Amino acid sequence: MRVNYLRISVTDRCNQRCVYCRPRVDCDFIERAEILCYEEIQRLARLFADCGIDRVRLTGGEPLVRRDVVALVAGLAGTDGIDDVALTTNGVLLESMAADLKAAGLSRINVSLDSLQADNYRKITGRDDLPQVLRGIHRAIGVGLQPVKVNAVLLRHINASQILGLAGLSMDLPLIVRFIEYCPTSRRVKPADDYVPCTEVRRIIERKFGRLLDTVIVPGSGPASYCKISRSAGAIGFIAGRSTLFCTSCNRIRLTSDGRIRPCLYSARQYDVKTLLREGASDARIRELLMQIIVQKGSLSALDSLAEEFCMRKVGG
Ligand code: SAM
Repeated sequence: MRVNYLRISVTDRCNQRCVYCRPRVDCDFIERAEILCYEEIQRLARLFADCGIDRVRLTGGEPLVRRDVVALVAGLAGTDGIDDVALTTNGVLLESMAADLKAAGLSRINVSLDSLQADNYRKITGRDDLPQVLRGIHRAIGVGLQPVKVNAVLLRHINASQILGLAGLSMDLPLIVRFIEYCPTSRRVKPADDYVPCTEVRRIIERKFGRLLDTVIVPGSGPASYCKISRSAGAIGFIAGRSTLFCTSCNRIRLTSDGRIRPCLYSARQYDVKTLLREGASDARIRELLMQIIVQKGSLSALDSLAEEFCMRKVGG
């Protein structure tokens, strides 16, 4: 698989506290001085582009809480070799920022939305942000971000009741609603009934809306499989990251906000590129490391390298 997709975590700070995003023992915030500045991120993006990366996604933490993130989007969109800049957000600040993000060159956006019911939404995120997130989604569609995807992580005992409501959003809105299997952030979690396998989600949706029609979504499809409710404006996607291992088709690599490169989300393996940057390494030296990581990624398996415990907001989900 050609590795051409870089996910950049721009901050470990977040304005929500989602239950599924936290490790069992909460992790400290990274010292500000340790967070890569925009010049460092842009330099790395340029060098990654030299190594074959042509798509980037900003994530976090919550990327929209980082000051001047619109300027970073513009810088990345203007980088030679980067054809596609996308972003994943919880949508809390999206309503006021969508137009500027679009103007800066953002092409696509994913918005996390795990419930359409206010109490349930608060139980998951710890916040009462549902109305502004919904307004943010409408605004993103309105300014022409294309496609807008809604990401829902399902936890059986918390928001499995939301499956039909969330799937139904794709009836009238040109949205892609994706159901993501919850993945534990600790190796010590026992085999559990906490997640809802995508096969079960599909059965629940089909019982209500009829047989789903398989469809192909091209830009940034990644590990998701897509289908549609008949005559719907949007589509539905499934990301079966727990019940299926997609290591062999994984084209992504991650840069953490404190300057470590992780070839696999679940892997304990990471490479400190910040020290190289800050010690004045040449472009050629850094490029050599990036190429080495990209080549080695092919031989990694999430199963044999699973981290004991990790913090999603630090690594960037
Ligand atoms: N704050 C942004 C947001 O809420 O979308 C970006 C960061 S968040 C960590 C990125 C994505 O990771 C979200 O779509 C979230 O639902 C997903 N995610 C976080 N923890 C997860 C877990 N334990 N299992 C599966 N997906 C998870």
